[in-house]
Amino acid sequence: MKYIFVTGGVVSSLGKGLAAASLGTLLEHRGLKVVLQKFDPYLNVDPGTMSPFQHGEVYVLDDGAETDLDLGHYERFTSANLSKLNNLTSGQVYESVIRKERRGDYLGKTVQVIPHVTDEIKGRIHEVAEKMEADVIITEIGGTTGDIEGLPFLEALRQFQDEVGHENVAFIHVTLVPFIKAAGELKTKPTQQSVAKLREIGIAPKVIICRSEHPLDDDLRGKLAMFCNVPREGVIQFLDVADTIYEAPLKLHEEGLDAVVARSLGLDLPEPDLTEWKAFVDRVVHPAHRVKVAVVGKYIELQDAYKSIYESLTHAGAANNCGVDVVRIDAEDIQKAGAAALLDAVDGVLIPGGFGDRGTEGKILAARYARENDIPYFGLCLGMQIATIEFARNVCHLDKANSIEFDPDTPHPVICLLEEQRDIREKGASMRLGTWKTQLRAGSRARELYGRDEVNERHRHRYEFNDSYKETMENAGLLISGTSPDGTLAEIVEIPAHPFFLAVQFHPEFQSKPKHPHPLFDGFTQAMLAHHLG
Ligand code: GLN
Repeated sequence: MKYIFVTGGVVSSLGKGLAAASLGTLLEHRGLKVVLQKFDPYLNVDPGTMSPFQHGEVYVLDDGAETDLDLGHYERFTSANLSKLNNLTSGQVYESVIRKERRGDYLGKTVQVIPHVTDEIKGRIHEVAEKMEADVIITEIGGTTGDIEGLPFLEALRQFQDEVGHENVAFIHVTLVPFIKAAGELKTKPTQQSVAKLREIGIAPKVIICRSEHPLDDDLRGKLAMFCNVPREGVIQFLDVADTIYEAPLKLHEEGLDAVVARSLGLDLPEPDLTEWKAFVDRVVHPAHRVKVAVVGKYIELQDAYKSIYESLTHAGAANNCGVDVVRIDAEDIQKAGAAALLDAVDGVLIPGGFGDRGTEGKILAARYARENDIPYFGLCLGMQIATIEFARNVCHLDKANSIEFDPDTPHPVICLLEEQRDIREKGASMRLGTWKTQLRAGSRARELYGRDEVNERHRHRYEFNDSYKETMENAGLLISGTSPDGTLAEIVEIPAHPFFLAVQFHPEFQSKPKHPHPLFDGFTQAMLAHHLG
């Protein structure tokens, strides 16, 4: 087993996750079985309790783990199917150490960061190596080298390389080479210093990936190699990708990243065949058509809040020779300006997941506008609840219908708390999470798009469609086209009389891959294209 650890230096937001995922792509194309994972030094047990403002999207795995959005990159860039083992936080580490201490497992010893916390961290890597089938495990360490909270992780990795043999471990440091405009120069000092910090700890990276806005010339590469004590071929330039993040593996391959990593691990691997990946990138960059989709949400200014949705739209667009331009609309702006003003020129409306009351009335206006004007509508999780509320109010004339999440006293609670949620008080990992089966109704649009009777989709919600309104809604033209196998939970609703009005209680965006767009995103994109051309 080989181990690759990816650290970050100088500043955050360098695209460490993208670099790690891209390396995963390249090694997988060279025939290795790759598992990617992330260690996050913060004290939350998982990001499930964090606001998107803090953290961006919470990515949900099959087993229901609520994880860092980088795991989304990992699953999209490789064929790995990840589990809760693949996102370790300091919160989990300390929770486990303290539980063991209370149980008396440490036999009277003083419990300390070294060795008890570091053992816990190493233990997780060994557990992944045992339980998951892989030739190589790529672990990204969150945060920036020099952060106090990251130290136990780096110390654990220093010990780990001694245990498994340095020849089986490669450290890769992703760093920033800033351009100083006044001097007209790229600067290597921050990188030198952050690599020096790692070496102080006893970690010597074999590769440095240099994020930079300008190409690195030979002199600069030589200087970085010398001061950072890496071979010259280990200095990898990583410029901003111009068009799509899916170019990153191609660029890093041109720079020789996978070759140098393979060599440093003593692996003799065939060259990767990237033809299909290139073809995908080409379809993303040069589509024949372009459509506009309005994503109406609450965290719209944040690039990362709906990451998987944007990626899924890219995948579906590529499959349909169609660029999908996202118009990000703050739901509260719709409340102020009206739906027509903001949605007039779009080919589709997508309402993503969300929590809390703010902006919901704007989303309801957006859903109504899409329904009444035959604009394709796709609702995800909260987006299905919004569609249901809108239909109840404006088609079934159930005045003030709402979700009890937003109005506990509504006369028509068309969205109510899931039965199993009624006695739950703790917020962490307590929603209906992970993969559940959905049965599809014969003849429905959902059934047609999936091309099968039953599907597995990932969930993250506390509220559900209230079954006592089912008859009223169905009689008025809302079809419940997907349910849990026992028929009790509505998973998909659609309006057959509309060109495309479909909303799901789950999160299809967590299962779309570049070469395998999700069928529902595919259908939505086709409908947008038809709207655009029609
Ligand atoms: N807030 C809603 C619920 O808990 C929707 C959740 C979501 O969109 N992920 O059911």
